[in-house]
Amino acid sequence: MNKSTNKEPGDKESRSLNFIEHIIEEDIRNNKNEQRVHTRFPPEPNGYLHIGHAKSICLNFGLAEKYNGLCNLRFDDTNPLTESVEFVDSIKEDVRWLGFNWEERLYFASDYFEKFYEFAVFLIKKGKAYVCDLNTEQIAADRGTPTRPGNESPYRNRTPEENVDLFRRMREGEFKNGERVLRAKIDMASPNMHMRDPVMYRIIHAEHHRTGNKWCIYPTYDFAHGQSDSIEKITHSICTLEFEVHRPLYEWFIRELEIFPSRQIEFARLELNYTIMSKRKLMQLVDEGYVNGWDDPRMPTISGLRRRGYTPEAIRSFAERVGIAKRENVIDVALLEHTIREDLNKKATRLMAVTDPLKLVITNYPEGGSEELEAPLNPEDPDAGTRKFSFSRELYIERDDFMEEPPKKFFRLAPGREVRLKYAYIIKCVDVVKDSTGKITKIHCVYDPETRSGTPGSTRKVKSTIHWVSAPHAKPARFRLFDRLFRKEDPDDVEEGKDFKSSINPGSLRVVEGYITPGTDPLNPLDKFQFERLGYFCVDPVSTCDKPVFNRTVTLRDAWAKIKNR
Ligand code: ATP
Ligand code: MG
Repeated sequence: MNKSTNKEPGDKESRSLNFIEHIIEEDIRNNKNEQRVHTRFPPEPNGYLHIGHAKSICLNFGLAEKYNGLCNLRFDDTNPLTESVEFVDSIKEDVRWLGFNWEERLYFASDYFEKFYEFAVFLIKKGKAYVCDLNTEQIAADRGTPTRPGNESPYRNRTPEENVDLFRRMREGEFKNGERVLRAKIDMASPNMHMRDPVMYRIIHAEHHRTGNKWCIYPTYDFAHGQSDSIEKITHSICTLEFEVHRPLYEWFIRELEIFPSRQIEFARLELNYTIMSKRKLMQLVDEGYVNGWDDPRMPTISGLRRRGYTPEAIRSFAERVGIAKRENVIDVALLEHTIREDLNKKATRLMAVTDPLKLVITNYPEGGSEELEAPLNPEDPDAGTRKFSFSRELYIERDDFMEEPPKKFFRLAPGREVRLKYAYIIKCVDVVKDSTGKITKIHCVYDPETRSGTPGSTRKVKSTIHWVSAPHAKPARFRLFDRLFRKEDPDDVEEGKDFKSSINPGSLRVVEGYITPGTDPLNPLDKFQFERLGYFCVDPVSTCDKPVFNRTVTLRDAWAKIKNR
């Protein structure tokens, strides 16, 4: 058993437990479930997983790890109309990528359909469920309101025999979609609307991605989720707050079915500002072409974050940091960005790149000459070593690092000004060359040979250091620069008659062509770099073109550090 269970409340360690860990440790102390801890992650395969799901995955698998327990991966696949094998496969890949292992415990609610059917018959025979011929609209109209009791269905008092027979005929396909449902017989006056004879089964003539055409009746979430938990002997069934109101029903079914009493515990779902986190809405973005697929790097999906350059370590650390709460709160997306910066700062190889090239010629450097310079591969990692790269007479610099008529606060390159070229020399701009339209095509500089980095002359100070790549050595590359997908902190906060899509940022993707310093060949998909002064980038694993394509994961400017230190 885990050591921390021996700690007294008030210990340093137990004080830092979250409320779910408190419940679990209490259960262990009370010898509940023979001290077993068994959780599950229960996605519905009707979309790709997002960062909110990542939080749930980290929580469920994390608790199992912490308490020497087990965590199942269970697909809640009870709706054939919205689910597919593509989604099942992507979910498995994402959970694995995050670093979790369900071993042999991969389950599908659809594997329990026969068992659910037996459970339903058991309740019918007990007089606790009935076949109702009202349609969806009539049932909704009869439900009442939270303050006004609903009307009992005229079919509520059918005999168990009649109900068993009708339910069997529902299964055998005798009725059309929506013609009949099976309902629990609970209390049409309950203050909890979920207890007002909720639907347990509906008729859906549709092929299921696993059970094919075997079934034409499908259980609802409420009559599948808790039952699956119970079949798998889940001890702590952790779900998000919106299911709190379902808990009395969850417990009612378990009690009436006399099955293993899994316990449902709710926590606040992860919400991020500037982000949409509903599969239904994410699906709209994909289907209506606002983004290029579920793994578009602007998406908050796990596959999108992966393609953007996020690491599983950063996502896990983010989940840990935001913690587990009982109350809804919106997390600043800057914290997520801070977390990936922190991770990549330790891991990413440094290179230089130029995303908007402007030619720079050093007129006092020998024509055709070049030299090797050296720079650390990662200054955060002393073992990483150094790399060598070339300097020459013709370079590219970033166009916006030069201004012909600089405003007061601009300290970078301008006519007559000096800057340091990173890892190289101090240069001074002596001339500007323009084309017939007035566009700057080239700038001429002179360098000070005494100021090479790493030599005594390198201590001479100038106001600014800029990055560059040597033109004859430069390797062409494409850069995909992302901005937030939504302009609004709360994308759903829109004028009447509009929806979240009106908050989309039209400039969320900018594709530019530039150069990188050669240094790390070959480039592999998702290889991660810091291009000095520009941000962290990774090699896009999907794009096919004749040059490498880099996705910018995140810039170097850390908004979170600023917020924190304010
Ligand atoms: P969405 O509402 O985003 O469409 P969902 O809840 O319908 O998601 P499921 O596949 O049912 O998606 O979710 C699987 C598990 O992930 C559930 O236990 C659910 O509570 C949890 N989960 C979903 N969204 C979040 C979130 N934003 N934060 C934490 N957990 C979440
Ligand atoms: Mg759901």
